[in-house]
Amino acid sequence: MISHPMPRVHARVHALLLPLLLACAGESAPAADESPRPSNGPMHDRVAKYTPVRLTADLSKLSARERAMIPLLIDAAKAMDRIFWMEAYGNPEELLNPLTDQEARRFAEINYGPWDRLEGNAPFIEGVGPKPKGANFYPADMDTAEFSAAAGAPGGELLKSQYTLVRRDSARKLIAVRYRDAFAKQVGVAAEKLRAAAKLADDPGLKNYLELRAEAMITDDYQPSDLAWMDMKNNTIDVVIGPIETYEDQLFGYKAAHEAFVLIKDREWSQRLARYTSMLPDLQRGLPVPAAYKAETPGTDSDLNAYDAVYYAGDANAGSKTIAINLPNDEEVQLKKGTRRLQLKNAMRAKFDKILVPVADVLIAPEQRKHVSFDAFFSNVMFHEVAHGLGIKKTLKGKGTVRDALKEQASSLEEGKADVLGFYMVTKLHEKGELGNADLMDNYVTFLAGIFRSVRFGASSAHGRANMAAFNYFQDRGAFTRDEASGTYRVDFDKMTAAMNALSEQILRFQGDGDYAGVAAFNAEMGVIRPALQADLRRLGSAGIPVDIVFEQGMEVLR
Ligand code: ZN
Repeated sequence: MISHPMPRVHARVHALLLPLLLACAGESAPAADESPRPSNGPMHDRVAKYTPVRLTADLSKLSARERAMIPLLIDAAKAMDRIFWMEAYGNPEELLNPLTDQEARRFAEINYGPWDRLEGNAPFIEGVGPKPKGANFYPADMDTAEFSAAAGAPGGELLKSQYTLVRRDSARKLIAVRYRDAFAKQVGVAAEKLRAAAKLADDPGLKNYLELRAEAMITDDYQPSDLAWMDMKNNTIDVVIGPIETYEDQLFGYKAAHEAFVLIKDREWSQRLARYTSMLPDLQRGLPVPAAYKAETPGTDSDLNAYDAVYYAGDANAGSKTIAINLPNDEEVQLKKGTRRLQLKNAMRAKFDKILVPVADVLIAPEQRKHVSFDAFFSNVMFHEVAHGLGIKKTLKGKGTVRDALKEQASSLEEGKADVLGFYMVTKLHEKGELGNADLMDNYVTFLAGIFRSVRFGASSAHGRANMAAFNYFQDRGAFTRDEASGTYRVDFDKMTAAMNALSEQILRFQGDGDYAGVAAFNAEMGVIRPALQADLRRLGSAGIPVDIVFEQGMEVLR
């Protein structure tokens, strides 16, 4: 970790490593004043919230056989795109073909459907109603009572599986359709491409994983390949592919959505991360909760690596872009093998340069802006990911796993946990002198600027909701103050530390207790954007600062 904050000039120079296409709304540098830019129409403004970034990586370190794997893996990833459309909306041609407005079409492609993911899934195409909470995983006319009755009846178990769609048969009875059947064509293509890539893999761990993942695509049994993925340690190329996260199912959080990331490991940065893995058990023991809430032992087999992404598809590519991953989600695999955390360095760098720095220049008190640094951003995100592996996975009150007990509230609370516990860890490691002479204030101020960046994702994302809850909780405790005259925010070091500890304990208790009602009430009260913040976020929009990035990607940009 570098102790000096990243100078702005350096940040801009670094951005040259990620050549940027011309954004239709112009570049993302903040306007000198805050007068609103002239609007070229609402659809234009929506598209302009995403600044294009070319997703490139240095392929020169790969062997010829490794380079030959990349297009195969990208083809497998593209099959996930089609499946995710079907899960989120339905047949994409039905929506896209009649659209004559090119910007509307572009925006539908960014969102994988007619609902704006940055605006709480508000429909942006005329005649389209609200997005069903269960997306297209369930029949739109199904209510939760009907589902629960059917799922609870004998033989109804499969309806709750994360690898099935719920449909109606000819008698309008709810039935489960396995992914392998619903998406037979696409998973067949993906399996074939993964097998072809496996033939080129010289690393035995990678070869084994690719073969088992191909098998999983057509059996819907993902556990063997998840275990193989955790056993694979020396690969340079990686691919995350399949039905993985359940955020798209806002009805129950049962259904996993398809996505893919094609990745190249950055060995140099990965070494910077390697040393933290061995500290996990110690960090777990130090959590600010009573002993019962930290009795589980995190997997010491866990690893933490930095990657450059060369392709995003499906869920991962819809709306806001993921910059860090913690997988697998299978709790049984987690207990046996731990988890792997992947930091997507080129995507993070793009968001830092194009969004976080301009945001800080508007909303952070001038004398604290020097504390906004890429290293602090990187480490905050890194420890967010570490924190997913910590804490508690089984409730203490016989309510099963935390995920089952907290249902649709589970995801946002888990993201909130990762934020505060990640930050708690940075604090502890600073106290122990593990992070050299880095300035902890960099992490604090960069974290606050990071919240401003994240809350712009609105209420439709678990991360955004979690950030709102943290922001309100901290503000209520004076962890930062807002200067009325300048409309900028200033961190109070000591109060921030206290608020972090208090929120960490609160969230771990919610999870350990499996307190569904408590979490629902907490999220309802705290997971909202209050008016003063809303006004400040509007200033970011007026300054022309994009909300997120959209990728120009594929073999065309890699060559
Ligand atoms: Zn997370």
